[in-house]
Amino acid sequence: MKRPDISFELFPPASANGLDNLGQAVERLKGFDPKYYSITYGAGGSGQQKSNELITKLAGDSELTLAAHITLAGATRQEITDTVKSWQALGIKRLVALRGDGDVPGEAFVPDSEGFQDSIELIAALRELGDFEIAVAAYPDPHPDSQSLAADLEFLKRKQDAGATTAITQFFFEADSYFKFVAAAREAGITIPIIPGILPINNISQLKRFADRCGATIPEWVIKAFDGLEDNPETSAAVAVSLCLDLCRELIEGGVDAFHFYTLNRSPLTEAVCRLLALQTEQKEAA
Ligand SMILES: Cc1cc2nc3c(=O)[nH]c(=O)nc-3n(C[C@H](O)[C@H](O)[C@H](O)COP(=O)(O)OP(=O)(O)OC[C@H]3O[C@@H](n4cnc5c(N)ncnc54)[C@H](O)[C@@H]3O)c2cc1C
Repeated sequence: MKRPDISFELFPPASANGLDNLGQAVERLKGFDPKYYSITYGAGGSGQQKSNELITKLAGDSELTLAAHITLAGATRQEITDTVKSWQALGIKRLVALRGDGDVPGEAFVPDSEGFQDSIELIAALRELGDFEIAVAAYPDPHPDSQSLAADLEFLKRKQDAGATTAITQFFFEADSYFKFVAAAREAGITIPIIPGILPINNISQLKRFADRCGATIPEWVIKAFDGLEDNPETSAAVAVSLCLDLCRELIEGGVDAFHFYTLNRSPLTEAVCRLLALQTEQKEAA
């Protein structure tokens, strides 16, 4: 049994303390030999500056392979092109191409008048800029801006046709949601790998707020699993690891061979899951 490919998502921390924590997480996660670490792109000027700083810092570590997220929201074509060229100069060969969100949650997205008008235009421009691996987002629970699952898939197919080489899913908590989505995507002519985005649940209250905004579903039984654990971080962490591991195992049984972990810059839960997955693979290999 082949060990699944693993990638870890990080975000640029706001404080010096956060940067220390992130550095420790990166060091600990190196042990799992990740295919890459992806770095999210902040919304707005200061967030984007922090992303750039983090990319520049981590690109200096020759042991790390990076994937830089890039969003088209609020930026001109020229600004995006310049940013990506600066990453190229640092040796970045992987991008995660995204539309991003507007400033006001819930309001219709409006692109910059001098910017790329949608992620299709962005992907096509990135394809012209260099021989990048280009990942894009995919949504097992349809994105709030989509008309339907079929419309979402049609758009994902257009992202593939524009030059995307992989899709990474929004988080989900039931393997069936992923398998149904992948089956529908294949029916719709989408052939690129669709890597499940895995979120070990660090804080269920925060997650509920975030899921409401991005249209992701948290099943009732998952919410129930954390009931009454607000002041009990040890039990909450044990529940989170157990749920996440069950999900990953079910996905592996269904043929999944790669995971993208949303680490939230905290290594312990992701590390626990990856340790146990690696052990399971070793045992199966030895049997
Ligand atoms: C793996 C992953 C990584 C992410 N990283 C970041 C990050 O680093 N920074 C950040 O700010 N956000 C990030 N996000 C969040 C993302 O920016 C939001 O979900 C955003 O609302 C949509 O971006 P997208 O690239 O998926 O959009 P798109 O796929 O371009 O659009 C979302 C949906 O809207 C509809 N749509 C959009 N444009 C059109 C069109 N022209 N015609 C028809 N339908 C259309 C489609 O149904 C589409 O599926 C990430 C999300 C994921 C899943």
